Amino acid sequence: MNANAASRAAQWIRADIQALKAYHVPPAHGMVKLDAMENPYPWPPAVVEAWLQALRGAALNRYPDPNATVLKTRLRETIGGDDGYDLILGNGSDELIQMIAMAVAGPDRVILAPEPTFVMYRMIATYAGMRYVGVPLRPDFGLDVEAMRAAIATHRPAVVFLSYPNNPTGNLWRRDDIQAIISATGGLVVIDEAYAAFASDTLIADVGHYDNIVVMRTLSKLGLAGLRLGYLVGAPAWLNEFDKVRLPYNINVLTQASAALALGLGEMFETQTAAIRRERESLRGALNRLPGITAFASDANFLLFRVAPGQAERIFTGLKERGVLIKNLHPQGGLLVDCLRVTVGTPEENAAFLAALARVIN
Ligand SMILES: *Cc1c(COP(=O)(O)O)cnc(C)c1O
Repeated sequence: MNANAASRAAQWIRADIQALKAYHVPPAHGMVKLDAMENPYPWPPAVVEAWLQALRGAALNRYPDPNATVLKTRLRETIGGDDGYDLILGNGSDELIQMIAMAVAGPDRVILAPEPTFVMYRMIATYAGMRYVGVPLRPDFGLDVEAMRAAIATHRPAVVFLSYPNNPTGNLWRRDDIQAIISATGGLVVIDEAYAAFASDTLIADVGHYDNIVVMRTLSKLGLAGLRLGYLVGAPAWLNEFDKVRLPYNINVLTQASAALALGLGEMFETQTAAIRRERESLRGALNRLPGITAFASDANFLLFRVAPGQAERIFTGLKERGVLIKNLHPQGGLLVDCLRVTVGTPEENAAFLAALARVIN
């Protein structure tokens, strides 16, 4: 090891980056994995065969189609609606958040979001050298419209992120609250619909009604987390600018071919996501029957639940020792004190989680 590397890095790496902790993904080998909102259902063998067939035609020696023309056409078919919008693709919606931040960044520029919410909004704001302002949600996880309006007036954010439904609380917000925020801000509002497959509402039809909203979606939570494909739907005036900071070949050949095929499997995904939505409701009922536990209503494929005061850390660790990995949100503080988040799995996984939890809380 070169002993000077550390001092060189300390000299040159931005202080705000040095102050960060890298995004931590816990090891999950051999665990019942209910921490990352993945779809637990594999593909039937015949579908896997059709997919492998499609991959045989992929030319790995060539750069991918920079505009992902075939894939975009398939996406437009699944989105439907009018043609007044444009589409940009990202290597996961994380990359789209990064592109949006890069395109608006400046030392005095602000990204604003209600809190608690998806942590990447804050992290990417920091990477881009921007200021991040979090506005607390109400205790019932609703938007605090007055506080949002005041923060928007003070900080004049370039971008407001609204996760709809919100990760990690799971709820949708009132449409009139969202409309009030869209009207109050001069900047862009990104409606992040990562959980659209599980939600009872979407704002996709509103894209044409406002000058300042775009809707972001991803195939990750639907069941294709391994592919890394997110998309942004919005007016060409915004999207043409974001497209300038997109790396030319950001969607690789294998993702383009696989996603184009997967978008033709609507019925399979509908069956899987319907099963997850049903399981979500029975899992919530079972959680709420356990002593000291409150599981909140969810429009996503996860449930946020609160445990007895001071017990979150012990319960999280106890579950891990019994081979069940969920997410401990207690360290984030605020409204998430005493809170854990569990992804809805297969009936067997959910039963294993509930059995382990029942033992740990006793
Ligand atoms: C998981 C998640 C994403 C990230 O999705 P990728 O497409 O996998 O990068 C974005 N937003 C929210 C709210 C999420 O929960």
